[in-house]
Amino acid sequence: MTDAPPPADTDTRDWTFVIDSGCEECGYGPHDPATTTKRIQALPPRWAAVLQREDAAVRPREGTWSPLEYACHSRDLVGALGERIAAMLESRNPTFADYDGEAEAVRGEFWAADPARVAREIDEATAASAAVIARVSDGDWERTGQRGDGFTFTVASLCRYLVHDLEHHLHDVDG
Ligand SMILES: [Zn+2]
Repeated sequence: MTDAPPPADTDTRDWTFVIDSGCEECGYGPHDPATTTKRIQALPPRWAAVLQREDAAVRPREGTWSPLEYACHSRDLVGALGERIAAMLESRNPTFADYDGEAEAVRGEFWAADPARVAREIDEATAASAAVIARVSDGDWERTGQRGDGFTFTVASLCRYLVHDLEHHLHDVDG
């Protein structure tokens, strides 16, 4: 087992601005939430290519996750997309559990993950979330859920928020 690397620099910015304004860093423009499944299904092949790189587990600089660590994080995020939408469909204004990416990276030993397995898990998590999104009917896009800090998402804005996150991380690793 490889020793744990030092913690990565934590990005503490609140990225909810991308829901309406997009992101200049990665080029994301707010997308039509109805196209979310198509957007997330475009990502696993890009991750598969990233994860085949020989240096996928190497951090490009101190404090920055390796592509492998970003891939593990993105697998969790695409899973969270489906789980959170399911919660919003099944209950009224649920509160989402806090998600601490750095803590999850330590707990899940992202640095030591098997790249081929992570690629498969990204495929599976994407398919599971697409199946949840298929249950969203026209009247459901404005259903709400709350982040631990009280920020209110709708199904539509959560789709924008997390699709941006996923696309931004591929941008981070040039994927
Ligand atoms: Zn971005």
